[in-house]
Amino acid sequence: MKHPFTLLASLLIFNMLMATRVSLSRSVPTLLKRAPYPHFAPKRLPKSHPCPLWSSSFTFCLTLRKPITTSPSFSRACSSSPSSISATQMAASAAVDEALSANPLLQDFDFPPFDVVHASHVRPGIRALLKKLESDLEELERTVEPTWPKLVVPLEKIVDRLSVVWGVVNHLKAVKDSSELRSAIEEVQPEKVKFSLRLGQSKPIYNAFKAIQDSPDWKTLSEAQKRIVESQIKEAVLSGVALEDDKRENFNKIEQELERLSQKFGENVLDATKKFEKLITDKNEIDGFPATALGLAAQTAVSKGHENATAEDGPWIITLDGPSFLSVMQHARNRSLREEIYRAYVTRASSGDLDNTAIIDSILKLRLEKAKLLNYNNYAEVSMATKMATVEKAEELLEKLRSASWKAGVQDMEDLKNFSKSQDVPEADDLNHWDISFWSERLRESKFDINEEELRPYFSLPKVMDGLFSLANKLFGIDIEPADGLAPVWNNDVRFYRVKDSSGAPIAYFYFDPYTRPSEKRGGAWMDEVLARSRVLSRDGTSPRLPVAHMVCNQSPPVGEKPSLMTFREVETVFHEFGHALQHMLTKQDEGLVAGIRGVEWDAVELPSQFMENWCYHRDTLMSIAKHYETGETLPEEVYLKLLAARTFRAGSLSLRQIRFASVDLKLHTDYIPGGSETIYDVDRRVSERTQVIPPLPEDRFLCGFSHIFGGGYAAGYYSYKWAEVLSADAFSAFEDAGLDNSQAVKETGHKFRETILALGGGKAPLEVFVEFRGREPSPEPLLRHNGLLPVPASA
Ligand SMILES: [Zn+2]
Repeated sequence: MKHPFTLLASLLIFNMLMATRVSLSRSVPTLLKRAPYPHFAPKRLPKSHPCPLWSSSFTFCLTLRKPITTSPSFSRACSSSPSSISATQMAASAAVDEALSANPLLQDFDFPPFDVVHASHVRPGIRALLKKLESDLEELERTVEPTWPKLVVPLEKIVDRLSVVWGVVNHLKAVKDSSELRSAIEEVQPEKVKFSLRLGQSKPIYNAFKAIQDSPDWKTLSEAQKRIVESQIKEAVLSGVALEDDKRENFNKIEQELERLSQKFGENVLDATKKFEKLITDKNEIDGFPATALGLAAQTAVSKGHENATAEDGPWIITLDGPSFLSVMQHARNRSLREEIYRAYVTRASSGDLDNTAIIDSILKLRLEKAKLLNYNNYAEVSMATKMATVEKAEELLEKLRSASWKAGVQDMEDLKNFSKSQDVPEADDLNHWDISFWSERLRESKFDINEEELRPYFSLPKVMDGLFSLANKLFGIDIEPADGLAPVWNNDVRFYRVKDSSGAPIAYFYFDPYTRPSEKRGGAWMDEVLARSRVLSRDGTSPRLPVAHMVCNQSPPVGEKPSLMTFREVETVFHEFGHALQHMLTKQDEGLVAGIRGVEWDAVELPSQFMENWCYHRDTLMSIAKHYETGETLPEEVYLKLLAARTFRAGSLSLRQIRFASVDLKLHTDYIPGGSETIYDVDRRVSERTQVIPPLPEDRFLCGFSHIFGGGYAAGYYSYKWAEVLSADAFSAFEDAGLDNSQAVKETGHKFRETILALGGGKAPLEVFVEFRGREPSPEPLLRHNGLLPVPASA
């Protein structure tokens, strides 16, 4: 998940962030990916990290973030006038001081006091913290010198304190929500955003970083230190700090207007989605719906005033929300219903008051203007300035994947035609967009017939975690042991673990919160940092502060003697999040601003997480964890083979879909001329001719609902999904090359992975890190092979 990491980014998202992943219920993806980086430049933060568009079953996590709003009522914060203070006021102020001194958010701690922080601590705690940091920042600006101790050390202290404390509060909102907590956070959030912006736009800090870069001492800095300086400068430049006054004013206007337009874009999508609903009273019309989809449609009906609606007897309401839309596409036997809903979906927000067409054009025009002000040729170059990829490399990759996927995509279509013919349906010779998901699901059922629910008894949480920890031991030589009681937790089900090196010394800690608690815990799964490794923030004055992470999932809790039983997708999810956690915890970087997941470019940050998922398909690893919780029986071989085969089902088509989205995103941000002879829809049509086996409908206006790039942070960044898949598949292929059954070779390759990808964090350019691990630049071949899009050698 990454984007321009700005301080804002980090400070804002930093904590809620990381990887919330789709809980693969095939409903709309949740989550998030990405690691934030404490840069100090504001504004260029992604607004959200949504999953790749709906159909995909890819495993990405994204962060869902609220748009930033800076409240005008900010000035209430921290302002108290000292003139004429009465005795009562003094008494009251003493009481306030006492309350503050007891506020757990303001204490010094080894591990955050998650058990005692309450909603009532948030307003006074965050305000007092901001006041203190404000004065630290003023002090820094007054005394700053272009040296590490006089610039980066105090800056890291400010950034870290805010991200750690805000992280605590934000984390509690995600796992222990209450209306009191939410409203307290909403109230202080604008104050925090305002501080972050001020920090990001500090000219004295920017100037000091520039001076470091120009000084004779530059050569003496470590690689990680240089990366910090360079990325701080880059972020500052990209946020307009370096522009001359009049240009800067113009720049800020553009930024504000872009903020407003993308907000409006998102609102239009939401409103258009909300506006559509289809009431169904005849059960025949939704023939084919599974029980969960019926339940959802009935629940929607209840929420819209049909209080007696039931899953069994209706009425039911279909909407354009992801889960509802998908259930129609995948399960409704009624073809005309599918067509109606499909057409409504791909024309959302494209007409009347809610038409996004002109907004898109304005956004593209302003982004181009912004790019020119910053001396770039186009907006894609601005986006790529803080990523691992370049425009050319991203385009090249997409074309390679496209040409490799095309034949398979055409074949997928043939398979669907043949299958639907065999089912003797009239549409077989004329399959259209609204038939594809439906017949794909039927074909999937007929080929693989995997019932996820029936697999649950083979995946009990304790066994899965044991298997995961022993894999981590085998690959990276670490030991993970329970350390419950060492750190306060927010719920009794939360486990705490210590990670030890082969020497037995602790190197990191993590929390694991596995079970669903619908009344107070957000859905999905994610990982985030609690504390980053840091020399500056050493607890004992000599050794670096150790990194601490948390992983959050939403599995069913144990019932009586029965342990928590997982679906295969939930198993993949835990491996995925643990991959993020490993990168954070096994870092050897002592510079706090680039340790662990901090400072890793967002198109590279999903490498370790997706890498770990690959092990779920490795026979020995999977079979060692897949033991029936009652009988101890291992998962049947035929089921394992089906899981393997299902992994590549329709991979060509899924790949082409992502490539269409990524390509149109890049085209619109490179060579499209707003207001020119070609419209945005012409561009999409041109791209679709090369990426879609069936051309889109002439009235297709999917761009009007493409929130990733017009309402979120993925502009000229949608390619990142594929980019990260390439990296992770290629990294895994190093193990395949070494021999997955050769334990010595696996161990050696694991050691190398740990010393490069996991150890270096954001302290080294991700391409160099990758080359150091792999011995060459990334290749898309392993991904294509894993997806079944290359001829497979007989031995594989
Ligand atoms: Zn992730």
